Amino acid sequence: MKTFSISILGCRVNQYEAEQIAAALKRRGLRQVDSPGGDLRVIHTCSVTSQAAKGSRQTIRRATRLPVLGQIACDNPDAGAGDHRDPGIDLQSQTPQLPDTSSRARVVVTGCWATSDTVAAGQMPGVDAVITNHQNVNDRLIELLNEWTPPDDASVTGDVTQPPTTNRPTSLPILGHKPATHQRAFLKIQDGCDAHCTYCIIPQLRPVLSSKSPDDAVAEARALVAAGHREIVLTGIFMGAYGQSTALRRRQDKSTSKPLAGLVAALCTQVPGLTRLRLSSLEPGDLDEHLINELKRHPQVVPHFHLPLQSGSDAILRKMNRQYTSGQFLEMIAMVQDAFDEPAITTDIIVGFPNETDDEFARTLDVVDRVQFIHTHAFSYSPRPKTAAARWTDQYVDGRVANQRIHLLNDRAKQHSLAYRQRFVGRAVSVIVERSDADHSPDRSPDKSRDKSSVHHGRCERYFDVHFASPTAHAGDLVQLRVDSVTADRTQGSVIE
Ligand code: SF4
Repeated sequence: MKTFSISILGCRVNQYEAEQIAAALKRRGLRQVDSPGGDLRVIHTCSVTSQAAKGSRQTIRRATRLPVLGQIACDNPDAGAGDHRDPGIDLQSQTPQLPDTSSRARVVVTGCWATSDTVAAGQMPGVDAVITNHQNVNDRLIELLNEWTPPDDASVTGDVTQPPTTNRPTSLPILGHKPATHQRAFLKIQDGCDAHCTYCIIPQLRPVLSSKSPDDAVAEARALVAAGHREIVLTGIFMGAYGQSTALRRRQDKSTSKPLAGLVAALCTQVPGLTRLRLSSLEPGDLDEHLINELKRHPQVVPHFHLPLQSGSDAILRKMNRQYTSGQFLEMIAMVQDAFDEPAITTDIIVGFPNETDDEFARTLDVVDRVQFIHTHAFSYSPRPKTAAARWTDQYVDGRVANQRIHLLNDRAKQHSLAYRQRFVGRAVSVIVERSDADHSPDRSPDKSRDKSSVHHGRCERYFDVHFASPTAHAGDLVQLRVDSVTADRTQGSVIE
């Protein structure tokens, strides 16, 4: 077994965890290839919506329908997975006849869907192992590799010591390598949630709260910056509960109530070369005056905040068991807008929650119009197993009504995004280039990379993407741009010389 791939579904926490798994497998001597190829195929699944669960199943099916002969893949490391398909497998078939395990790729399913639907995952044809969130994924993977790798397999090289990934109750493992080609690096500082929003399956799948120590987070951030990342995005399941043993604010230890502010201060003062620090998502009640004051002291903290509103109706918020009212949400937005220069605010909204009336949806639209989020991720409510809301079947909103509401919300969200970005026409923004045509050209000769038509794009401080042409820029560069024009779908800029 020489190669592996990881398919990732879901949120940034999942992306980070997949990078941890990749790091452990690379330490073990395996080489990463594009998914869903490789001798070992890991699918890191998501279960947060029924759509995500369906996507997880589809991805597993794709991975199990592309078996490779491990030895052939080893012999020709430059060839893609497609070159090693077993001719005996009907790739279109829904129920392929799988060869025995000695001659095909091994498939391991991890993550939230593997945890919520462990039995179903294990019964899918071609799945060799399921590892749940309640197990130590990296340790279990290494055990499986030992089991599956014949003792005389010369491919198992590299450092075979266990990676430092043991899950301890109050600490999270460090990811001390350059994890991906993205210019932004995720740094997971917190895991777990016990808030039990009535629609959410996460507390069943990640019930124990744990936090990375400030020292470990600083060490990891230094390693990421040293590896070339300019922007670090802090992630967690309930980041506002960083340093706490519960996400329920009324039960939190008030004597240590500001650990997140302390962590931000440590990262901004003890990590030389860190250009940008972004907080991926905060529960609305967590962005209090103390945290806002700390954030605005540090120029590395970008003026972008993702604050999931979910609904603008207090009745629905109560029914969702959210820890704020719409009024408190708007007060917090006012504080943010006061503290930062034209902050970008993004959100998530659930449409069609049980018993959501037209009037209640109108309240959501009202909050959306008042805040003018620059991006709104609106999705239709879907019942998740063993959640409180899944039992309220008699209150489900008709699918057509929910779809109409989604359309309305998306239209409104587009208008607000356009209006926000128009405010920056003629003004300077800085972007970290995420992708350049030149970087993806098969010909990387200096002449080619100087092609004037090279188009690049990158996210600016305020989260929106800006496209621009440059003969010299490459992924990872920090570039000053002037915003020239804005349409519903695109923001165009030019380099400020
Ligand atoms: S805060 Fe609510 S929505 Fe977020 S993970 Fe916890 S239970 Fe789920």
